[in-house]
Amino acid sequence: MDFELSKEHRDIQKAAREFALGEFRDVAREYDLNETFPAEIVKKARELDLIGLFIPEEYGGPGFGYFEQALVLEEFWKVDPGIAQELCSITFGAEELLLFGTEEQKKKWLPPLFSGNAIMGFAITEPDAGSDTASAATNAVLEGDEYVINGSKVMIGNGTVGTFLLIFCLTNPEVESKTGRHSIIIVETDRDGYKADPMHGKMGLRASDTAALYFNNVRVPKENLVGVEGNGFIQLMKFFDHSRAYVAAHGVGLAQGALDMAVKHVKGRKQFGRPIGSFQATQFKIAEMATKIEIARNTVYKSAWLLDKGKPDTTLTAMAKLYACHVAVEVVDEALQLHGGYGYFDDYDIERFYRAAKVLEIYEGTKEVEKIVIAREILGKL
Ligand SMILES: Cc1cc2nc3c(=O)[nH]c(=O)nc-3n(C[C@H](O)[C@H](O)[C@H](O)COP(=O)(O)OP(=O)(O)OC[C@H]3O[C@@H](n4cnc5c(N)ncnc54)[C@H](O)[C@@H]3O)c2cc1C
Repeated sequence: MDFELSKEHRDIQKAAREFALGEFRDVAREYDLNETFPAEIVKKARELDLIGLFIPEEYGGPGFGYFEQALVLEEFWKVDPGIAQELCSITFGAEELLLFGTEEQKKKWLPPLFSGNAIMGFAITEPDAGSDTASAATNAVLEGDEYVINGSKVMIGNGTVGTFLLIFCLTNPEVESKTGRHSIIIVETDRDGYKADPMHGKMGLRASDTAALYFNNVRVPKENLVGVEGNGFIQLMKFFDHSRAYVAAHGVGLAQGALDMAVKHVKGRKQFGRPIGSFQATQFKIAEMATKIEIARNTVYKSAWLLDKGKPDTTLTAMAKLYACHVAVEVVDEALQLHGGYGYFDDYDIERFYRAAKVLEIYEGTKEVEKIVIAREILGKL
């Protein structure tokens, strides 16, 4: 076992860090305030192979791995969670195509994410089906050679700006088991009957696109089915083994960015005639924050490393997501505390990080859902 990053890893980290500092540090606050979609930054990241690093070259991607993807996301999230979220989301769902798509589907849908303007997303959540994904009711009925889709989704990344989305649909309602009723179907967003309403007013990550979707007799060819009809729930769980590792990397990045800001502040800010960093109470906080981040990082790296070995570990990934995202929320809270009243104003980046952090304990499985996954593995069926 070797815990050292290779030269290639360090080069990728450096490229991601420089890109984030150069391209989004200075505009991040304004983009967040105005809910601006970072179109130009997305374009540049594409050109520099800084999106979808896990997608093989034969499908147009940079051809690295899940570990490298995690490294890049960590660097992006250190600088600005909102723009970082969107850069990660451009290929959100591509793992599902890699795992279950046909060769033809991979060659058709993946390359335009890099050489064209394609943007994808994965629509699972519905107004009445959040954590309980197996109760999703958006239905797809096979009529001849086409699926006809009706229903609605909510809080979907890239619903407005995306060019195609994977939709988690009910296709086999007659099946008794709740886990055998759904399928994943590709829908192009220019299909008749597709409507997306942007959802404004997010607490954080405001540079990223989120929408409510409506499907009114949307027709797609049956070739748009990904994997096996009725196997969508199982396929979705395999996808989460990948996507949750990234969200965990988001948590590590956000926490490290918050700690870096706190360190800078406590070295410069003086009270009682001394830098506030010289008080032992402050030093203990910094030590605890750094320790938690390091533990989280190691769990995330192991989880991504296993993905590259073709041995995804559902429990470990859930642990990584649970822990790293909790650490992000805790660390950003302490980091803002160390900024005192200044941290409460939006001309300090820590305010934006604080608002961004909470979602990490909600999307891609709430913290409670992650605990259910972990406990189920430990306790078995009771
Ligand atoms: C910014 C943002 C972006 C998002 N992007 C996407 C996207 O791209 N695609 C997508 O499909 N979805 C997306 N989501 C939706 C997200 O995945 C859901 O919000 C999440 O799965 C939780 O579902 P819910 O909001 O309906 O909450 P609910 O499921 O209603 O949960 C509410 C509370 O009840 C708890 N709870 C529920 N069931 C249990 C249980 N059995 N035991 C214990 N506690 C339980 C939850 O943990 C939570 O605390 C996004 C959400 C946000 C905020």
